[in-house]
Amino acid sequence: MHSSTAQFRTLTASRRSQWRAALRASFGGAVLFLVYEASKSAIFPGLTIWESHSITIGFGAVIAGAAAWATVRRQSDLLQTIAIEEARREGLELRQRALLESETRYRILVEKSPEAIAVHRGGQVLYVNSSAAHLVGAMDTAVLVGCRMAEFIHPDDRDRWYRRRVESHTGSFRLVRVDQTIREVEVVSADTEFGGARAVQTVFRDVTEQRSLEARLLHEAFHDSLTGLANRALFRDRLEHALALHRRDAGHQLAVLFLDLDNFKSINDRLGHEAGDRVLCTVASRLRHETRATDTVARFGGDEFAILLERLPTEQEVLSIVNRIRVALTEALEFDHRHFALSASIGVAIGTVADDVDSMLRNADVAMYEAKGAGKARHAVFEPVMYDAIVQRLRLEADLRAAVRAPETSGLSLVFQPIVDLASSEVRSLEALLRWTHPEHGMISPSVFIPIAEQTGAIVQLGRWVLERACEQMKIWRAQWWRAGLPMDEFPTLSVNISGRQLAERDFVYELQELVQRVNVPAELLVLEITETVIMQDTDRTLSSLSALKALGVQLAIDDFGTGYSSLSYLQRFPVDVLKIDRAFVEGMGLGTSDTALARTIVTLGRTLGLRTVAEGIETEAQRVALEDMGCHLGQGYLFAKPLAAHAVAELLLRRSASGAPPRTRSVG
Ligand SMILES: [Mg+2]
Repeated sequence: MHSSTAQFRTLTASRRSQWRAALRASFGGAVLFLVYEASKSAIFPGLTIWESHSITIGFGAVIAGAAAWATVRRQSDLLQTIAIEEARREGLELRQRALLESETRYRILVEKSPEAIAVHRGGQVLYVNSSAAHLVGAMDTAVLVGCRMAEFIHPDDRDRWYRRRVESHTGSFRLVRVDQTIREVEVVSADTEFGGARAVQTVFRDVTEQRSLEARLLHEAFHDSLTGLANRALFRDRLEHALALHRRDAGHQLAVLFLDLDNFKSINDRLGHEAGDRVLCTVASRLRHETRATDTVARFGGDEFAILLERLPTEQEVLSIVNRIRVALTEALEFDHRHFALSASIGVAIGTVADDVDSMLRNADVAMYEAKGAGKARHAVFEPVMYDAIVQRLRLEADLRAAVRAPETSGLSLVFQPIVDLASSEVRSLEALLRWTHPEHGMISPSVFIPIAEQTGAIVQLGRWVLERACEQMKIWRAQWWRAGLPMDEFPTLSVNISGRQLAERDFVYELQELVQRVNVPAELLVLEITETVIMQDTDRTLSSLSALKALGVQLAIDDFGTGYSSLSYLQRFPVDVLKIDRAFVEGMGLGTSDTALARTIVTLGRTLGLRTVAEGIETEAQRVALEDMGCHLGQGYLFAKPLAAHAVAELLLRRSASGAPPRTRSVG
């Protein structure tokens, strides 16, 4: 409205001035007319009145037309100018209004933003939004105005904060809140204007939770969740780094230890997985305790651990750490008032400049395997020759597994060694012994393949086959014995070696019962030989198995007695019938060692407990005489007979029918 009145005024004023101009022009025109008339009379003296008027009218019309055109033109120009001016002004007003609206919107946005925003100049806070006050833990935004920005940055990060490019910067800092707690923030700074002057606006984003989640995920990706030790991935990474350093400076020793617990499975089986997990955690903490903070201790899974030792001056130093670890691990563990002994087999690989991660791990693994094979609870330092031995052993393992699946066709067979009366050399029992003639490598010693079968678990299936074959063989001999008309109550017993793993099988007693019934042999003629160490393990369970076997009528013998430190109280509790004196004592007899005394003690012990004693490995007449003098009545060894094939045993047994006397081994040599 205001602008229309102004335009009207402008228009009226311009019209007035036009009239004034027209008046001035009329006056000027009259003067000019008079001058014109005079000039015309002077120039054209002979003109008629009509000619004179015609010229005047024509001339006047031209001038009037030109004036009118000029007036109209000027007026239209003026109107156009006014219209343009008006449009320009309207545009300006619109823009100003839009700017005002956008500023309001921006202010609301900043104030209500969930992101913490601060505007500062020269490091001093000019403005903060409520999110920023909340982030630093201030009650109100006003208390922060005038503070130094750097006050809220962690002292260790301040250098970086000062050095950043203020105008456009992105970075991460630790923020110290009013209550001194720390938050992780990401900041983005940008140039802005505040109060009509240049300033910096910084947006803070709290990433504390995100960072801690990231850190947790990262930790989980590289650590074992049970023990908190490094996992295989982190171990490999550290080893790679250590090897790279070692290649640059080989003046120090670098070693990888590979550690496997020897008896973890039995603890796990007996006490459950929860106890097993506690054992693993205890082992982890002992390993950490015996190594330096700079060493890496990792769990590779199950009961396998690996340790990376770096920057040790000598190989001796490496071995002294290995020994410390072994001693620490043997410290007894206690669960539910029961004590357990732990031990580990440790493989040691000493790094060379030619080694890489895989070769180091493989070498340590091979050395561990060697330590385990050499009897556990020990360590072995890798040597290249071990590698070939391992490969050979692995092949043998595979062959043995295949042989167990088809024993008759893969070279497995039984031989039988007589156990005789020391005085008369009459055969009292026959011990079934397993032999393996490998299709490629020929005869393999039981001392080689039996431990492999024990370790791989193949012994269970193998032992089942041995029992079955032995019982079937006994049935054949008994039929021959009966046909020869010999007294059935004088038929010798049959001794079969039983492994601890077989005895631990849930169905062992039931299977044996089923076997003697199926083959139809008297259970009383079967003597199961069990080593002392098996009896010593998990005594409660062993005792119940042995009692069940006794109930079947089977006889029990403790094999290799004297080597396994069994206590007298155990001997009294177990329902055994026979003690077999280990060949080591018999070998040492008469050599001035304590073996004679020990053998005598065992014989006396057997007599006291009402057990029969059998001396193993008798090779000389002197040994036989000495043992007989001690009161030992039974013996086994090359002096009487080597292990014999089934048909040779039949010949030996039936010779009695020819001579009318019980079979005597000395006659077969
Ligand atoms: Mg034996």
